[in-house]
Amino acid sequence: MSADRTVFRAARAVTDVAAGTVIEDATVVVEGERIVWTGRTADRPGHPAEGGVLDLGSRTLFPGLMDAHVHLAFDAGSDPVATMLARDDEARLDSMRVSARQLVESGVTFARDLGAPQAAARHGDPRALAARIREEIGQGRTPGPRLMVAGRPLTRPSGHCWFMGNEIDGPDRARRAVHEEVEAGADLVKVMVTGGRMTPGTDPVRFEVSPQALAAVVAEAHALGVTVAAHALSTVGIRAAAAAGVDSVEHGTFISPEGDDGFDAAVLRELVASGAGVCPTLGLSGAHAHPIPIGTRGGWIVAMHEAGVPILAGTDSGIPRHPHAGGVVDGLEGLIAGGLPVRDALMSATETGMRAAGLAGAGAIKPGYLADLIAVEGDPLQDVRALLDPAFVLAGGRIAKGL
Ligand SMILES: [Zn+2]
Repeated sequence: MSADRTVFRAARAVTDVAAGTVIEDATVVVEGERIVWTGRTADRPGHPAEGGVLDLGSRTLFPGLMDAHVHLAFDAGSDPVATMLARDDEARLDSMRVSARQLVESGVTFARDLGAPQAAARHGDPRALAARIREEIGQGRTPGPRLMVAGRPLTRPSGHCWFMGNEIDGPDRARRAVHEEVEAGADLVKVMVTGGRMTPGTDPVRFEVSPQALAAVVAEAHALGVTVAAHALSTVGIRAAAAAGVDSVEHGTFISPEGDDGFDAAVLRELVASGAGVCPTLGLSGAHAHPIPIGTRGGWIVAMHEAGVPILAGTDSGIPRHPHAGGVVDGLEGLIAGGLPVRDALMSATETGMRAAGLAGAGAIKPGYLADLIAVEGDPLQDVRALLDPAFVLAGGRIAKGL
């Protein structure tokens, strides 16, 4: 009988979103950062001597959620880039800790940071700022989700996010940049295949790195055992990312060179054949600010989903109108408003989506899985808004938000 066992009891538990498994009068036993038992309270073998029981009452236990696309270093204010650039390393780290806490208190127990600045200080800790936050969270010194971090995004000279990026002008520099980010602690590499709306002077619909440089990024990353997330805002960008063999396409909007609906069934087939997942970053509240209507963007997502492209729930939290607090639910509402069934949207934020993002053994309440779970009022399988502001969050076996 281990002393670090904790027992959680609740009126019900959604243990497996994909299978739709719901246990009434549920008990979950956690040891360290893993779940060791789950089932009906009446069926549990008695261990009266072990650690305490936390009774979550009439609430529903649900797997912790994923946000596959966040920017901890951005504060979701009106000009997060200027705010971030004006801060020194310590202030940036403090702001990232605030973002991490907001994410986990919103029920996000796994996130991928897809772009943050490197340390500005010439001396001292050479690791990427996001890698330091990942370590603090892992050690229990800072509350936050389990993190995979990309470090600095790779971008063409003066390309999208150059102000915090690692600029690549060809295959040699691209290979070196991949090494630099991995040495600084990156779990995956982010590369800007097209421009972006946040960076003046870049074109969101144009393919902005050379095919040779992009191929070098993917080959070098895979040789080092890390994956590649590619920012692509247009049909030509998606095509280039799929051809290069990236692991995920970020945003993945089928925008034409003219800036309108550029959906292309042939490009979708190439995307399916590549095996890449897509993180659509479609939020409900920010959708009005996008030049393409939510119905059109939702149609692209439904087409990708029905063709078998793994959908990763993600929000781009940190950019304007995309808060870290509660953004994950706004993102699920965006997917649903775009036409994805509720169950499929929830799958993109739990085990199915996490596996596509490279995290196995998480996103369901099963023995052996990571002890990442939340407790909410209401039934998230009926209404995802039940997931807003969970009463209780357990992340990696640690209570990140208590009753
Ligand atoms: Zn982003």
